[in-house]
Amino acid sequence: MSDKLAETERRRLLALVGSGLATGLAGCGGGGGGATATSTATATATPTASDGGVPAAYETATSLDGTQRDPDALSSKDAVNYQAEPSDGQQCSDCRFYIEDKNGDGMGACAIVAGTIDPEGYCVSYAEYQG
Ligand code: SF4
Repeated sequence: MSDKLAETERRRLLALVGSGLATGLAGCGGGGGGATATSTATATATPTASDGGVPAAYETATSLDGTQRDPDALSSKDAVNYQAEPSDGQQCSDCRFYIEDKNGDGMGACAIVAGTIDPEGYCVSYAEYQG
């Protein structure tokens, strides 16, 4: 354990010395030195599982066919090729997953797709509401 810690400290020190040395040598025009800087940038931007920015009233609301919206299990609009206009007469307001407007702004939500949903929108998960 302590050996590992010491090793970590040693590496950190070497890295500091290495970078300082490199900076110093750059001014002198010198070269050499066996310091190798290994930077592994781990850019793991985790996509935020979100409620899709819908008002609270929609977060766990139920759709036309009674499917409850799960804010943690939604597809992104991109993933389902959502578009804000109908396709071949099919549109969100006729889809079983559509959650109707609850605040009078003309937009609804969807039980399986994130974000506010235009009643005249459409996506590849469209399933006609038979009710
Ligand atoms: S067409 Fe797609 S986005 Fe629209 S209500 Fe149905 S599943 Fe949701």
